[in-house]
Amino acid sequence: MTGKILIVDDLAINRIILKVKLASACHDSVQASDGTSALAAARAEKPKLILLDMMLPDISGIEVCRQLRSDPQTRDIPVVIITASSDRARRLEALEAGADEFLTKPLSEVILLARIRSLLRARETEAELRLRAATCQGLGFSDSVVPLDGPGHIGLIAAEPATALGWRAALAPLMPDRMDILTPTAALRDAKGCPGPDLYVVASDLGAHGSGLRLVADLRSRLVSRDAAISLLLPAAEPDTAAMALDLGASDLIMLPFDLQETALRLRLHIQRKRRAELLRRQVNDGLKLAVTDPLTGLYNRRYAMAHLEWLASRAAGTAAPFAVLALDLDRFKSINDRFGHAAGDAVLESVANRLRESLRASDLLARIGGEEFLVALPDTPLEDARRVAERLCQTLADTAIPLPDGLGTVQVTVSVGLAMAGPGSAAAHVMNRADSALLEAKAEGRNQVTIWGTAA
Ligand code: GH3
Ligand code: MG
Ligand code: MG
Repeated sequence: MTGKILIVDDLAINRIILKVKLASACHDSVQASDGTSALAAARAEKPKLILLDMMLPDISGIEVCRQLRSDPQTRDIPVVIITASSDRARRLEALEAGADEFLTKPLSEVILLARIRSLLRARETEAELRLRAATCQGLGFSDSVVPLDGPGHIGLIAAEPATALGWRAALAPLMPDRMDILTPTAALRDAKGCPGPDLYVVASDLGAHGSGLRLVADLRSRLVSRDAAISLLLPAAEPDTAAMALDLGASDLIMLPFDLQETALRLRLHIQRKRRAELLRRQVNDGLKLAVTDPLTGLYNRRYAMAHLEWLASRAAGTAAPFAVLALDLDRFKSINDRFGHAAGDAVLESVANRLRESLRASDLLARIGGEEFLVALPDTPLEDARRVAERLCQTLADTAIPLPDGLGTVQVTVSVGLAMAGPGSAAAHVMNRADSALLEAKAEGRNQVTIWGTAA
């Protein structure tokens, strides 16, 4: 996308006025004078936002909006429809066609520019998320399915609970969402792990509790509410409050006295937008998790383990804290696959992973770095302690046979372990190589044992 704003209006004078207003806020613009050329310009220029006049000589602004939304190339460009008419039916139609905002002439310059800032901010956040989610999918991570239009959760916050109850009674027949009446204090309270509402509807005047604007800023700064949508309800005659609300992070403004149908439509749109962002965020997080996890055992993978070792090594360089690295390799594992099949082998690997995990501290790293090879890193651990841990791991496996799936009985599994200590200045790769050589010695000396690097005969 370019950094330009596309101005669509059939009257040259209107285009010039908008161009000057935009230039004053350092936005470059391009222009189109009818619907057809607007659609062509949107595809060719990929503008960052479109200001669209409702009345055009060829096709209506609403139809242009619909077509923009149906084309993947242009569907994410924010659209603000501008019109001289205040016809309610057209307003609803514009919102249904996918317009992000609908402004009536004469335009308030402060609201227009604040609206543009807020839409551009939202678009950038979403574009960034989409890019990161696409990268994760490009790596082969799955796309989880979350319904975007199911019922959401709305928090209603007014100066008096009776006012919020009135909103709920009026909106409930039009919306499937759960609506809770909240005080400002309850809205800001840490929900202790429970997800907060998808959307907060906040009155600009919260009476004795302070201003709605302050609550908008507070909601944006709290973990539980920072990614939620926020709609501020305010009197139409307060353009400065409106502009400030957008700059503080309100997602939408609803003018009082509110139009019931338009409000329901806007709230639904913002819930859906929030859900879409949440879905993308989840894809990114899942992708990041999968990128460092071994899918069979759920342990960290080699990539993560190596990065973790580098981190331990750099930390050890600063504090002189010793850390130990154990290289583990299951003994004669091939024969388990040969006797019971690969699926049984997989099940054994999972059980081994669980046993190892149960025998370690939470601060120890356990990773599966190869087929039947594991790595353990023990931070802040001197040699004697590390040796005891290594022997305990060996013993844990040798003590109890592992059950096989499908009634195949049990199998005895043992492991050989190479131990190497890292001190100040040890490079991660170096310690890893030492642990590997110690492991080879443990294998050579008969398996099911621990060998410490540098102590072999
Ligand atoms: P050694 O005691 O010398 O380590 O003998 P080994 O049989 O364990 O060693 P080798 O390296 O010859 O064979 C490792 C076997 O591990 C080969 C392969 O069949 C098996 N293996 C590796 N990854 C997996 C896996 O993901 N699932 C299953 N089921 N088996 C695996
Ligand atoms: Mg091996
Ligand atoms: Mg092996």
